[in-house]
Amino acid sequence: MDLERLDELAEDPRIVSGIHNYCDRWCERCGFTDRCLNFAMEREEKKESQESESGVDDSEAAMKVVEQSLQSTLELVRKMAAEAGVDLEDLEVEEEDPPPDPREGARQHPCSVAAMEYIGIVDTWFETRTDLFRNKAVTVARQVVVDLPGSDPESEVNALKENVDAIRWYQHFFYPKIMRALGSAEHERERGHDDEFPRDSAGSAKIALIAMDRSIDAWTHLRDALLDDADSILDILAHLERLRRTAESKFPNARAFVRPGFDEVP
Ligand code: SF4
Repeated sequence: MDLERLDELAEDPRIVSGIHNYCDRWCERCGFTDRCLNFAMEREEKKESQESESGVDDSEAAMKVVEQSLQSTLELVRKMAAEAGVDLEDLEVEEEDPPPDPREGARQHPCSVAAMEYIGIVDTWFETRTDLFRNKAVTVARQVVVDLPGSDPESEVNALKENVDAIRWYQHFFYPKIMRALGSAEHERERGHDDEFPRDSAGSAKIALIAMDRSIDAWTHLRDALLDDADSILDILAHLERLRRTAESKFPNARAFVRPGFDEVP
């Protein structure tokens, strides 16, 4: 997309600046798509790539140009070195210790560790529960046949699907958001922070907490629907609850953060 088109999109008065920084990225279900520059850009890019029949050829041609340009630069450097009497093959490169990874501290934080563990816990739970869902489907199908008074199999199936979708959507969401919140907190601590501006650490932690709230809600409904497996779901809920409390105590101001758009527009 060219700069002019980007400017045009950004000038739309409905756009809320920075709204996409603290959302859950579930655009399909977002009520703010017409206020989000990120959504508008993605839609535009999708449209452009559908329209461009020669997209692949163009990118291959561009890669070739870059490759040729690197090759010529390398040849030029070799020629200049030879003229100066320097043999590039003979140059000894001193090995230096790599700089410490600034994200390592964040990775070791109890919130990140628990968020990463949660990803595996959820995968394992679903992988080992195919029978449970099959039995549930059989029970619901029987209800349809018998047509028990007061039962509503269709809503039951829809609710089950909704909760599974929410769990799966947020499963991989906390970890990067927690990592970003911890990274920003470190940055704000090291460089200082002007309180006139919102803290990215609090905003990132807030959306992580919201995702945890929604996951806890979804698991709670799933537990009520799948009573045969209530105990294993309770363990997951306990893990999530511990993670939520640890995150709340690490980021005490997160809940009060005002997210652009979501927490402002009535
Ligand atoms: S604000 Fe809404 S539309 Fe924009 S990226 Fe986030 S979820 Fe998608």
